Amino acid sequence: MAAALRADPPKFQPRAVKVLIVGSGPAGYTAAVYAARAMLDPVLIQGLQPGGQLTITTDVENWPGDAQVMGPDLMARMEAHARATGAEIVSDIVTSVDLSGRPFRAETDSGQVWLADALILATGAQAKWLGLPSETAFQGFGVSACATCDGFFYRGREVAVIGGGNTAVEEALFLTNFASKVTLIHRRDTLRAEKILQHRLLNHPKIEVLWHHELAEVTGTADPRGVDGVRVRHVESGAITEIPVQGVFVAIGHAPASQLVADQLALHHGGYVVTKADSTATSVPGVFAAGDLTDHVYRQAVTSAGMGCMAALEAERFLAETGAVDGRVMSDPLGWGAETAAE
Ligand code: FAD
Ligand code: NAP
Repeated sequence: MAAALRADPPKFQPRAVKVLIVGSGPAGYTAAVYAARAMLDPVLIQGLQPGGQLTITTDVENWPGDAQVMGPDLMARMEAHARATGAEIVSDIVTSVDLSGRPFRAETDSGQVWLADALILATGAQAKWLGLPSETAFQGFGVSACATCDGFFYRGREVAVIGGGNTAVEEALFLTNFASKVTLIHRRDTLRAEKILQHRLLNHPKIEVLWHHELAEVTGTADPRGVDGVRVRHVESGAITEIPVQGVFVAIGHAPASQLVADQLALHHGGYVVTKADSTATSVPGVFAAGDLTDHVYRQAVTSAGMGCMAALEAERFLAETGAVDGRVMSDPLGWGAETAAE
């Protein structure tokens, strides 16, 4: 009878876990491996892009131990490794989190509610794109947002970089290691980048800066798919200039995927989650952030994986110090009861 007086149980029973990991890039999967091996029975929610950013690239040549590996293959291996250690991998998207008290609460697109004693956020960051159809058409075929990843493929070729911040200038400088000429295209006549970087850029013999211009179109061939130039527009006169290049690097900023926690955790540099020095601890004890979500400087798979490892080790230490939340029966945290489950 008591069960009849209660409200209907939710579609899914809320599930309580010691460690919930949000994100399935290198940071998330590495955290899952370490947390599983620490017997914390982690659950990892994959999100909209299982495997993360590396699934949208081809060759990865800077992952230690693999001179060359396809991004999607590397991420499939990371997922398999995490599963093999016992981590539970869930295909779902976290739609909201509540960090106001422990256990932390996360709701997903499917309607599942998760209650976590420790939370590892590894939702990554996405490069911003201009949104031009031709830019999308040539992504992975001459258009890139990562010079560190793809610059190597442009040895002896001419490339363009779009943007005027630290990233664009660093990318342009880095690309001079490979390209015969780098044209930096910027919509204003002043750069946002640090002065020292500007100095290096403006004095580099391989770099030309095209001020007051924006990208109008990437041009190229369909078969084989590849870039052969850019059409750029003068922002005041509208005059179009064509520049022959084989590669285009869009470097107009990165957007960390911190929307879930924007009003709950301290953020900086346009949305990156702040972590304590030499740590993945965020402004809320028990919540850890790893990978591109917190890193506005390196943004690499290997650094993300390193931070995933740190986050799991720190979560383990946090749980050892703080213990279970409050002695509730964690498999039935909201008291829906065995009788409901048995019905
Ligand atoms: P990401 O890989 O960004 O993964 C984020 C994860 O979070 C995704 O699985 C996503 O589904 C999930 N997620 C987001 N929101 C939610 C949510 N609400 N709920 C659940 N899950 C969520 N680095 C290198 O070291 N070498 C390279 O060669 C290289 N090449 C690259 C090529 C390209 C085209 C790009 C874009 C990047 C490249 N990088 C490379 C950078 C590298 O991919 C990133 O540094 C790395 O993937 C960051 O890992 P991460 O785990 O922090 O996040
Ligand atoms: P950013 O500082 O936001 O600069 C973005 C650049 O792209 C700006 O020059 C901007 O032009 C341009 N841009 C933006 N949207 C555009 C559009 N639609 N069309 C054309 N141009 C556009 O981004 P970031 O360079 O990636 O840097 C992000 C943060 O990371 C910064 O805080 C930066 O200092 C930091 N960072 C630090 C380092 C380092 O410490 N070594 C390295 C990289 C990044 P306008 O200038 O006209 O706005």
